[in-house]
Amino acid sequence: MADSRKYDLAIVGGGIAGSSLAKCMAESGARVLLLEAAPQFKDRVRGEVLVSWGTAEAKSLGLGDALTQAGARQLRWCNHYLGAMQTERRDLPATTLTKTPVITFYHPAMQERILQTAESAGAQVKRGAEASLVTTGFPAKVHWNDNGHTEKAEARLLVIADGRNSPLRRSLGFEVKKETHSGCIAGIIFENVSLPEDTLHWFINPAVGEAIGWAPEGESRVRTYLCYWGDRKPRYRGPSDVSKFLADLKWTGIAPEYFSKAQTSGPLATFDGADTWVDQLYKEGVALLGDTAASNDPPGGKDCQSHCAGHVRFAIRSWATRIGTKPVRSARSSSNAGMESCGPLPDGFGSSTWRREKFQMRVELARSNYSLKTRRGYQT
Ligand SMILES: Cc1cc2nc3c(=O)[nH]c(=O)nc-3n(C[C@H](O)[C@H](O)[C@H](O)COP(=O)(O)OP(=O)(O)OC[C@H]3O[C@@H](n4cnc5c(N)ncnc54)[C@H](O)[C@@H]3O)c2cc1C
Repeated sequence: MADSRKYDLAIVGGGIAGSSLAKCMAESGARVLLLEAAPQFKDRVRGEVLVSWGTAEAKSLGLGDALTQAGARQLRWCNHYLGAMQTERRDLPATTLTKTPVITFYHPAMQERILQTAESAGAQVKRGAEASLVTTGFPAKVHWNDNGHTEKAEARLLVIADGRNSPLRRSLGFEVKKETHSGCIAGIIFENVSLPEDTLHWFINPAVGEAIGWAPEGESRVRTYLCYWGDRKPRYRGPSDVSKFLADLKWTGIAPEYFSKAQTSGPLATFDGADTWVDQLYKEGVALLGDTAASNDPPGGKDCQSHCAGHVRFAIRSWATRIGTKPVRSARSSSNAGMESCGPLPDGFGSSTWRREKFQMRVELARSNYSLKTRRGYQT
């Protein structure tokens, strides 16, 4: 009988990255262990928009049903604005190479569902299991806490997918690089918002150096993001900042109309918008995945799709070529390659990172769209 503590693949972290990989590898016959610290998922203010190419990638990984079961909504339209002026109303299935809409979901529900899918595919999933120690080697080893007891397992490959601040990554000495700009992204879910439920709204405002995204999730709930320069104003944090956050949506022109009865549904939090990444994602039996590998441009809205698609695909390919002998290709370039493969993207969803100069470029693009199109009377 096989030793119950020996695996082909052990994964730390049951986010979209870790669970998608667990599902795909278990399906392909690997003996997989997945450790997830949270006994239940809660709103951590994370990505809830899967852009068109990500929707197609999720389907091709066999995750389409899981997302539907998690309550994912299809949004056909993406409205773009320069300040309060609408510059475009894009029909996504008609104009993307993948011919797919954007989908939105409640992140904790999505995590729960993909984790269950991994378990159904044969992965051994442990909840409330917080990994405390990982060691490189052949096999690599992981220790975790289970109800006050320390448990351990070993694996031919150990994947760390514990998120953007990963203490385990640090403990193994992976070198983390970071952009230096002060871009921030704040987010919160509001309910009682009367926004059209088939349309993603994306605003940029060069005058104040901000961008705003509204992603309807159904039943009048809207995930709302505000991207801004952190050296210009403090971070939004907690219930006391909600009224200021709402007031700061006013430059959209239409926020007062849609958000007049809005109530909070979940926490308000702010994160760094600067990319962080690790160039060498593999070290003696241990590989990094998802935000642990590269936390990439949240305002560009591409990380969930990168993590459930690009990164996972790269990890799978690397596994197939025996990851123990080769470094994995950079997640940063893989996610950008994914973006570039999908052809024309809406403004604000470009493959570039959210650096000032690229932000300016998007502004110029939006301006030219504006001069060409605004007077034709777009509708929200
Ligand atoms: C404000 C904001 C907005 C965003 N908007 C978008 C968007 O619109 N579209 C998009 O595609 N992306 C977006 N992103 C990015 C996206 O949310 C992330 O890239 C994605 O969720 C990362 O998934 P992950 O699985 O790598 O990490 P995580 O989701 O962080 O998952 C890590 C998991 O590991 C678990 N864990 C942590 N430590 C341990 C441990 N020691 N042992 C066991 N388990 C552990 C955690 O509990 C967690 O479940 C946004 C991010 C932010 C911050």
